[in-house]
Amino acid sequence: MNGSFRLTRLFGIDVEINVSWLLVFALFSYTLARQYFPANIAGFAPAVYWSMGIITTLLIFISVLLHELAHSLMAVREGIPIRKITLFIFGGVAQMEKEPHLPGVEFKIALVGPATSLVLALLALLLFRLFPPDLAISQVIFFLARLNLIVGLINLIPAFPLDGGRVLRAGLWYYFRNMLRATRYAVNIGSIFAFMAIGLGFLLLFQFAWIWGLWYVFLGWMLYQSGQASYVQLVFHQTFKGVPVRQIMSPHVHSVSPYLTLDRLVELFYYYKFAAFPVTENDNLLGMVTLNQLREVEMDQWSHTTVQQIMTGTAKLVKVSPDSEAVDLMMKMAAGNIGRVLVVENHRLVGILSRTDIMKLISMHMLLGTEK
Ligand SMILES: [Zn+2]
Repeated sequence: MNGSFRLTRLFGIDVEINVSWLLVFALFSYTLARQYFPANIAGFAPAVYWSMGIITTLLIFISVLLHELAHSLMAVREGIPIRKITLFIFGGVAQMEKEPHLPGVEFKIALVGPATSLVLALLALLLFRLFPPDLAISQVIFFLARLNLIVGLINLIPAFPLDGGRVLRAGLWYYFRNMLRATRYAVNIGSIFAFMAIGLGFLLLFQFAWIWGLWYVFLGWMLYQSGQASYVQLVFHQTFKGVPVRQIMSPHVHSVSPYLTLDRLVELFYYYKFAAFPVTENDNLLGMVTLNQLREVEMDQWSHTTVQQIMTGTAKLVKVSPDSEAVDLMMKMAAGNIGRVLVVENHRLVGILSRTDIMKLISMHMLLGTEK
């Protein structure tokens, strides 16, 4: 994720913090120190409230980390490597190198996170019982008990891709013996929860509880979006597993000559409405020329400037062999924010593959019900 920095390494897993967490840290410490704790227990000096706020926020951070670490260690135990854990504004994400291959494995990995939060809540509650309740430390511990209870319970809501939704999918997957079908059901059930959250949000908006209303609408929308996105990604993986690039690329590429002048190139941009053209000579790929590169040249220079003077050379282009796996390519395109790749075989341009083409292909499969 962008804007993250490495904090530490635990059990061979990198732990990263997203910069958004610093904002959350300040916001939580402030709210706890100035509002929550003074409202719950009176009579401490401001410095004590601030210490309580900061210590509590650090312990929240550790709670979230333990939740993600539990997922990660279970995944590693089941043979799924974890690249890193990123802690960001809404909690954390443990990046698995691959999806679980069996429902039982997914069940264990998903369930251990909320279970950890609930155990932490229980431990904090037991610890709270050991101290007199009017101590500052008792208030911190009690807050943590509540927070971990809420984190554990929210994550158990059966809305995919929340942990509870994954547990549900694992169950359906075991029942149907079909992962994609199980995911579709889990995503649809998740959407019901997402729309319920949005509905509740609007209800609160009408009652002039603006902040809470907007918060629920936002969370519901995020939940809906992430459910849909994970389903599309899964359909892609299932449908295009083992499919080579050659099979899904567009083989008819409109390329331009390196000696073409820019005033002619403009006409081609208008005619084909593409944002870029590959540059070839006798089918050999020489580079790529984009609309933006054209825009950087003054208009009165167009008639005596050629494509090869402004194009990007092949060395800087993303190229792929027609025999490489489409799934791997899609992951690379998504990770590198790459819009299109050129398919090259023995220096010859044989096709082109754009992200829009891939998305169209996926929605066609979903519409026709031909996903595997
Ligand atoms: Zn979790």
